[in-house]
Amino acid sequence: MSTKPSRRPETTRDQWSERAAALAIRSQLFIDGRFEPAASGRTFDCVSPIDGRVLTAVAAGEAEDVDRAVKAARAAFEAGVWSNMAPAQRKKVLQRFAQLVREHADELALLETLDVGKPIRFSRSVDMVQVEEAIAWNAEAIDKIYDEVAPTGAKSLALVRREPVGVVGAVVPWNFPLLMAAWKFAPALATGNSLVLKPAEQSPLSALRVAELASEAGVPPGVFNVVTGFGETAGKALGLHPDVDVLAFTGSTQVGKHFLNYSAQSNMKQVWLECGGKSPNIVFDDAYDMDAAVKAAAMGIFFNQGQVCNAGSRLLVHSAIKEEFVEKLVAFSERLRPADPLDPAAILGAMASAEQMRRVLDYIEIGNSEGARLATGGGTAEPVAGGSFVQPTIFDGVAPDMRIAQEEIFGPVLSVISFDSEEEAIGIANASMYGLAAAVWTRDLNRALRLGQRLKSGLVWVNCYDAGDMSVPFGGVKQSGFGRDRSLHALDKYTQLKTVWISLR
Ligand code: NAD
Repeated sequence: MSTKPSRRPETTRDQWSERAAALAIRSQLFIDGRFEPAASGRTFDCVSPIDGRVLTAVAAGEAEDVDRAVKAARAAFEAGVWSNMAPAQRKKVLQRFAQLVREHADELALLETLDVGKPIRFSRSVDMVQVEEAIAWNAEAIDKIYDEVAPTGAKSLALVRREPVGVVGAVVPWNFPLLMAAWKFAPALATGNSLVLKPAEQSPLSALRVAELASEAGVPPGVFNVVTGFGETAGKALGLHPDVDVLAFTGSTQVGKHFLNYSAQSNMKQVWLECGGKSPNIVFDDAYDMDAAVKAAAMGIFFNQGQVCNAGSRLLVHSAIKEEFVEKLVAFSERLRPADPLDPAAILGAMASAEQMRRVLDYIEIGNSEGARLATGGGTAEPVAGGSFVQPTIFDGVAPDMRIAQEEIFGPVLSVISFDSEEEAIGIANASMYGLAAAVWTRDLNRALRLGQRLKSGLVWVNCYDAGDMSVPFGGVKQSGFGRDRSLHALDKYTQLKTVWISLR
């Protein structure tokens, strides 16, 4: 996720608050083109981490609801209303969908900010801009991809066709609720599949609204369904459902492994996993621009309150520059204060939930007890009463095997580790169960290329952090998962190859 805001915020805090008060919030399941309650009638409270206020009661979907949604998706798929639509026509519908997201970007951004506490400037300029891009990019791609004719000789014609897989289940996390969903639903819809999306229970609101917009754009009933609810009920039911063909998951490594089990226990559905990370950001003493590296190191961990799968949560700094680097980093980070997320000037907002705040505070406790030196932060903040805010926190003197250097904290907590040689840096960087992203700061091109080869991760940035584009794949290796979101490669997850062999007479 690129962190560069592309539009300047113009709306004031008070105006955002007024809009929030007037917002119509969808809170029921979206199945077969209609909003409806859960079969059980149960709901759960959707709480804003900004101030602890209950925003609405959301339908708590369970196995019966998932089954209803999968049946609607299957019926739509088999009817061919979407799956057999000409790609150029599907493209037009998805372009209208992207246009509606653009027109409702403020509303969707507000839902996201209220739901998970991220600063409105980023909900607007990062999340919603990239959601729209994901839909528009996949729409544009879909009528430009050709099937193949295999070189089998004059006596036969062998077609290698790419077909949609059928019913896609998508289970997503709460850190970039709509963006992580869009990286799945956009290619899945573009390739002609039907979909059942289960957003995280902490962040159900934007998915419900976006499915409604898809429907308004012309996506036929049953093609895009949303079942809100808990992981252990709705998520599990989708993972176990015998009529789901592909399950695309983004979330923790621990839950990702459940989906492999669910597949084995049910119908051997394909499973694609985008999971956690503990990404190393490696600064050598020959980096071009130390100030740029300092800023990138800070934003690499503190953006979105550290709740970023590819956050640069391990900062590896060459010992020759470590003291000076950490001093500058602490000075920069102390200027980043958590603020009211509805304030357009806010750079840091709330943690996504009170539970996540407690988890992060527990890790800060662990860091202290492991003997790391707390260089800054370490506690809560309260820019809004009743909210869940954590100060940007930096631990220096961290040993590579400490828990705060190995486990994904998923919060604004940075572990600084020093190294003396390139070989040592590579060893420390790769000594992790994760392999999502890594960054290298150096002016030596050979070193940059060497590390680009030897770092075990799905992404390696050189002289930048968290750069990206729809045209490049995103995803990890090792226990960060497999399969890629974004780019044409993402379409592989939602299509399967079929050979049609014709003997010629
Ligand atoms: P999580 O794994 O707790 O939940 C993710 C989703 O799985 C939610 O929708 C949840 O309801 C569901 N779920 C939870 N338990 C389940 C179960 N037993 N069975 C079925 N479904 C279940 O993750 P989270 O806390 O929402 O998100 C944070 C995690 O997501 C971090 O580990 C982060 O690194 C990861 N993440 C990865 C990427 C990536 O692209 N690699 C992107 C964003 C977030």
